[in-house]
This record gives sequence, structure tokens and C-alpha cells, in this order.
Amino acid sequence: MSRVYNFSAGPAVLPEEVLREAAEEMMDYKGSGMSVMEMSHRSKVYDTIIKEAEADLRELMNIPDNYKVLFLQGGASQQFAMIPMNLMKNKKAAYIVTGQWAKKAFQEGQIYGEAVKVASSEDETFSYIPDCSDLDIPEDADYVYICENNTIYGTKYKTLPNTKGHTLVADVSSCFLSEPVDVSKYGIIYGGVQKNIGPAGVVIVIIREDLITEDTLPGTPTMLKYKTHADADSLYNTPPAYGIYICGKVFQWIKKMGGLTAMKEHNEAKAKILYDFLDQSNMFQGTVRKEDRSLMNVPFVTGDKDLDAKFVKEAEAAGFVNLKGHRTVGGMRASIYNAMPVEGVQKLVDFMKKFEEEN
Ligand SMILES: *Cc1c(COP(=O)(O)O)cnc(C)c1O
Repeated sequence: MSRVYNFSAGPAVLPEEVLREAAEEMMDYKGSGMSVMEMSHRSKVYDTIIKEAEADLRELMNIPDNYKVLFLQGGASQQFAMIPMNLMKNKKAAYIVTGQWAKKAFQEGQIYGEAVKVASSEDETFSYIPDCSDLDIPEDADYVYICENNTIYGTKYKTLPNTKGHTLVADVSSCFLSEPVDVSKYGIIYGGVQKNIGPAGVVIVIIREDLITEDTLPGTPTMLKYKTHADADSLYNTPPAYGIYICGKVFQWIKKMGGLTAMKEHNEAKAKILYDFLDQSNMFQGTVRKEDRSLMNVPFVTGDKDLDAKFVKEAEAAGFVNLKGHRTVGGMRASIYNAMPVEGVQKLVDFMKKFEEEN
């Protein structure tokens, strides 16, 4: 067996320990005589899996009792519609557009009501987070929407926007569980798990209870009402059962690693190795404003497309894969999620040094 260092933005690297455990339990989960893939989601054994996963997530994020945790399907993208369908009581919402995912959510919001773009960083290819301390937010906006970590562009909010009392909704797909978070500042925190937590197919929605109502937009399908899933503890229909099981294992791995404070230190140490190198390199440059740099996604360029392509190709041959940048930014992007070990980043930087010397 030979594992590569996988810098994919998502689906992304998972902890080896979790993969090994899942492999061991594949044929016979804890004496049940079957795989978790094969068991009823109504069985006692599965009930324990999903309940423990929720309890561990609540403990890790210190989720207050007046928030529900929902394990849903449809990916993060389905939330772009589900949020306005459930929250747009006044048919108006404010969106801060800091990248492609925020823009897609903003465009989806326009289908359901008046989505107002209150700030954007599109003028400079989303390479920074706009000042959100005093935005012109419509009084009757139902919520303020952000994408907290911009996976493609590599920026992250270091302070949350001043929502002026409005409900904050955040897509945290690519920074989920990467550092401690104060859940009480948000109405909804949600993310697809395939960036930092588990296999694609699960989206986790943490939602304040008062936002879960029958009063959704006319025509909202049963499956797209938060209430449907909240009332059924995420078991209204068959959930993405195996994916949730893997998420649960990752929660336990993070607990074992010391929780979110330890995760943050681990992630800061990794990001520092890479950013410090970029800051002194004559060949490679980071593409975003320093104060807005993400700990998870690090885009960089050489300024020469052919050289970028050569780097990506040689890196892959050396076992550092999925470093090609998003087509809208070009260059390279190293996603260094929770499960990327420090030595993976250190070895990448050693490789970059060698490449710089040779080219
Ligand atoms: C990947 C990603 C998405 C899209 O996720 P899907 O599960 O594929 O819909 C949305 N938002 C962010 C921040 C992402 O990184």
C-alpha cells in the first residue's frame, strides 16, 4: 500500500486511523454480522452511531441546547436553496460575495426573493475579505449570508461581519472543525463534509431552533423543510448512513487529538510552514491579502503558466497530488485540511525549495 500526500480541495484527505478502523469494521460492525452500509437506519445499532456522532459534534463545537444538528443530503449546494426557502419570511436577504460559492448562494437566493449584495471582493478576483464592520444591510433582511472560508480563493473571515442584529448564516464547508467557533453568533452554520470531515454525500446543518418553522415559502418540498428533518432527528427518510458513520469516527479522532483548540494549533503550524516559505520565495507567491489568509486552502502562483504546469506535474510524480489551482485562479492550491499531517506540508515545502533551485 502506498498513500500519497493529497492536497485536494475536496473530496479531501481523511485521517488514516479512521480509514483503517472503517476497513476493520467493514465486514462485521461490532458483532452485528454486517457492514454499516447494509444495516437499517432504524436499527438499534445504527441509532447508537448517529446519536454518538451528534453528541461528539455537540461536545467538540460546544453547541448550545437551543440549536439542532441535522445530517442531510444534497451537498452544500442544496443549502443555497433550502436557506431562502426556510428563512426568507420577508423575502429579502443580504449576501456578502467573497467567492464562487457565495456567489452561487447569492444567485440561488435571487430565485426566492430579493437577494441584496451588500459587499463583494469580486473586483480583485476575490483575493480579500471586504470590510464588513458597517454594511448597508436592509432593515427587513431575514438574514446575512457569508461563506466563511473561501475554498477556491483561499480567504477566511478573521472577524465575523457586523450583521446589525440580523441572523448570520454561514457556509463553513472548508473550515468546519478547523478551529474553535462560537456557535451562538450564528443562526445557521452548515457545510458539506467532504472537505474536512467525511465522505461526500452528507451536509451538516447546525440551526437555531427558532429558525425551524412551518412557515416556509409556498411550494417548499417536504424534504427541503428544516422542520421535517429536525422533528425526525435526521431520520425522516434514509439518511446517508455510512457517511454519517465516518463523520462520527472523524469527530472521535478530533476529540482524541485534543479538540478544536488543538486542531487550530495543528492547522496554524502547518499553514505557517507554507506561508513563511511563500513569503520569502523568489519563485512562488501567495495570491491573497495576508491578513485574510485561510488556514485550509493556500493558493499560490509562479507567475508563469508553463512553470506552474511543470511544477504540478513534477509534484505529482513525487507523490504530492491535486495541487493544480482552480481554473479561475490558475497556478496551484494546497488544501491542508485537519487530516493533512505536518510532515506532508513540510515535505511539500522541501520539494518547492528544490524546484525553485532547479528552475
Ligand atoms: C465545496 C464547497 C461547496 C459545494 O459543496 P457541494 O457539497 O459539492 O455542493 C459549497 N461551499 C463551499 C465553501 C465549498 O467549499
